[in-house]
Amino acid sequence: MTGDDATKGRLFFQSEIFGDDQPRPRRPRPTKMHREPSRTIPVHAETDVLVVGGGPAGTAAAVAAARLGAAVMLVERYNHLGGLSTGGLVIWIDRMTDWSGAQIIQGIANDLLDRLPKEAVAGPPRGAWGAADEATAAYWRERTAAFHGIVTWSPTVDPERLKTASAELLLESGVRLLLHAWAADPIVEDGVVRGVVFESKEGRRAILARVVVDATGDADLVFRAGARCDSDIDANDIHHCMNTAWVFGGVDMGRWIAFKTAEPAAFAAFMAEGRARLRFCERPFVSWRNDVALFMGPRQSGFSAVDVEDLTEIETRSRRLMIAHLDYYRGRAPGFENAYLMLQAPQIGVRHSRRIAAAARVERAQWDAGTIWDDEVGVSPSLAPRFANISVPYRSLVPIGVENMLAPGRHVACDASSHAFLREIPQCWLTGQAAGVAAAVAAGAGVSVRDVDVGAVQHGLISQGVHLSPAVAARAGTGAVIPSAAAPGARKRLKSAGETFI
Ligand SMILES: Cc1cc2nc3c(=O)[nH]c(=O)nc-3n(C[C@H](O)[C@H](O)[C@H](O)COP(=O)(O)OP(=O)(O)OC[C@H]3O[C@@H](n4cnc5c(N)ncnc54)[C@H](O)[C@@H]3O)c2cc1C
Repeated sequence: MTGDDATKGRLFFQSEIFGDDQPRPRRPRPTKMHREPSRTIPVHAETDVLVVGGGPAGTAAAVAAARLGAAVMLVERYNHLGGLSTGGLVIWIDRMTDWSGAQIIQGIANDLLDRLPKEAVAGPPRGAWGAADEATAAYWRERTAAFHGIVTWSPTVDPERLKTASAELLLESGVRLLLHAWAADPIVEDGVVRGVVFESKEGRRAILARVVVDATGDADLVFRAGARCDSDIDANDIHHCMNTAWVFGGVDMGRWIAFKTAEPAAFAAFMAEGRARLRFCERPFVSWRNDVALFMGPRQSGFSAVDVEDLTEIETRSRRLMIAHLDYYRGRAPGFENAYLMLQAPQIGVRHSRRIAAAARVERAQWDAGTIWDDEVGVSPSLAPRFANISVPYRSLVPIGVENMLAPGRHVACDASSHAFLREIPQCWLTGQAAGVAAAVAAGAGVSVRDVDVGAVQHGLISQGVHLSPAVAARAGTGAVIPSAAAPGARKRLKSAGETFI
């Protein structure tokens, strides 16, 4: 954090950190090198906009760009969309309302949530958003939807339904989807990105694009293009911790919540004994069903999300702790007598690895100042009622040091404190949608994303249902023209189809 005491304490969500008492012995980094021979590889496809990563940011980016007429392709390494919000079992979608109860994260966030069947979403009814009476807030506080005594729109969802909704929305928008494809390297010529090389069961192939959107969460492509990234963290904060989440089925969360709230001393004793036995005791959150409990997983510090040995270590530790929790909860926790292990998340829970360096970024000082950026592309709720809503600048998505790349999602440019909320799922939908619109506008106009007409981007966002600050929206609404990416000649800088890329 910034050192400002006002940012410490229960501003976000208080959690324990699970660190090692002693520094872990680390495997030595490689010293022996192997020279890989250069090779000629096939061009798999050419497109206006290539989105890498199908998490909340990438999904929103692809849909937003396709809706503006761009030819869009999305490459995802796993077999589903949603990233951590589905495969990571981060099924608690954080708040989309501000502290008055007004929904300020809209657009594709709404399009996705509206597609979920009723039984796949649990959260407060619209009439309760912003409610501050003790009884309503107390009820929703135990159900992940009240904070600072105010009810928020922050539902829990069925991850399988969200995967389906994401894929259907994408395909209906006309996006070409490529699963089981791992983007390995950006193709960069004279500082300008021209596409991406990916690996799959078919070997190594290239995709050429006018604009590349890095939505990998770890800024993999920005980093490999040689652009600067920030990685500073506050060691006392959970936001750098990694863990793999899990869900237990066969539980009765109603009984668990009744125990926790009616018997605080017994609950405290349960947690204390859990800590003594397991070294770390994780408490469950509600899910979209009463018989499914969500455990976000033991928050482990001191590891790197871009170190493959560390990623392996986290998986091993998380799995052992998950089994130990199952034994402990079954034996001692009301409502968990018949619990069974339903699923450990297929995707490791990475909150933070790299953040891009950009010409503007959200910083702690903005929270008090209430800055509204001229190039605002979305508005985020703040961390606490005493702070203004947070205006997100377009420039925070545009990495310095590489041209024609955008980088929305959890690696957006911000300081470590602001990352605490800008990495949340709704904010990743927000920045993803902004990047998608900007990519389509830039591809259509034949300009670099750095030089894009921001008024046209704002206009495009409003047309897609995005909320902007009233002053920004008033300016943007006055006739900015959105160039169609599908316009004749718009793809003139692409190499012809079938040409071999070397
Ligand atoms: C433990 C934990 C708890 C959290 N709690 C909450 C919460 O309660 N509420 C909330 O709203 N948010 C929460 N978050 C934050 C939120 O889940 C993430 O920050 C958000 O999902 C990030 O979205 P993203 O699209 O930027 O990245 P991701 O969700 O990480 O998606 C990135 C996608 O890119 C793919 N990808 C990565 N590299 C490549 C590559 N080279 N080639 C192809 N595909 C690639 C990945 O497979 C993934 O699908 C939590 C996060 C964690 C880890």
